[in-house]
Amino acid sequence: MTTNTSTALITGGTSGIGRATAKKLAQLGIHVLVVGRNAERGKNTVDEIRGPGGKADFISSDLRDAASARDVAKRAIELGNAHVDILINNAGIYPFGPTHEMTEEQFDRVFSINVKVPYFLVAELAPLMAKRGKGAIVNLSTMAADYGAPGMSLYGSSKAAINLLTKTWAAEYGPSGVRVNAVSPGPTRTEGTDAMGEGLEQLAAQGPAGRPATADEIAEAIVFLATDRASFIYGAKLAVDGGRTAI
Ligand code: NAP
Repeated sequence: MTTNTSTALITGGTSGIGRATAKKLAQLGIHVLVVGRNAERGKNTVDEIRGPGGKADFISSDLRDAASARDVAKRAIELGNAHVDILINNAGIYPFGPTHEMTEEQFDRVFSINVKVPYFLVAELAPLMAKRGKGAIVNLSTMAADYGAPGMSLYGSSKAAINLLTKTWAAEYGPSGVRVNAVSPGPTRTEGTDAMGEGLEQLAAQGPAGRPATADEIAEAIVFLATDRASFIYGAKLAVDGGRTAI
């Protein structure tokens, strides 16, 4: 059975930027599927969306490789009544530190969740969107993929891969009606960056806005690119970084 309700899959949709995005998409009447490992955070997010009448489901998964990405795609297609119209590749990790202190295990984890998982989610879902002639994919990048910064080698390079993949996927699937774009945030207050404390403020102070973003401010840009308001935008990277990469 198919339905006209749009379905959005949001990895890491149970916290920070992903949760803010899920809420905004649900407010537009979109059925949101949020992915995470922590069942309690999953339940809380789903409850917060269903409370005011939104449609949401939690997909529990430890996204780490092609198999877990394929399994999540399969469950999303089932929950979405045979279609997923929007994919937000948001789940990501950002361990910082000098290159000579990073372990092989950290390298593999960062590239697995930040690059491999989005890669295989797109491999599963973009052809399905292309077959229907319509779809939108938004990848989460970072301003740290645009310049060399000490301590950002692993994280920045993983997101630099996402920046190129955004353009490649736009070239591959755009002609079939699938728009692929990226949002590139600056420092943003989320559960994930809580541990950075004042460090986040200091990083944010380098940009014209002079402060960290809220998760809602980043989610606004993601929702814009994911919906028809951005109907002529393909393969773009939208900097939502308080101006940091402009100066
Ligand atoms: P966050 O608060 O740390 O939340 C991360 C989300 O990803 C959670 O929902 C988490 O859920 C999920 N997740 C993490 N590892 C996972 C795994 N192995 N399998 C499944 N889900 C997993 O993140 P955020 O700060 O909002 O950042 C979101 C995205 O924006 C990331 O891609 C990040 O690189 C990017 N970004 C963030 C900032 C910033 O300053 N916050 C700046 C630039 C770019 P569970 O823990 O339950 O698994």
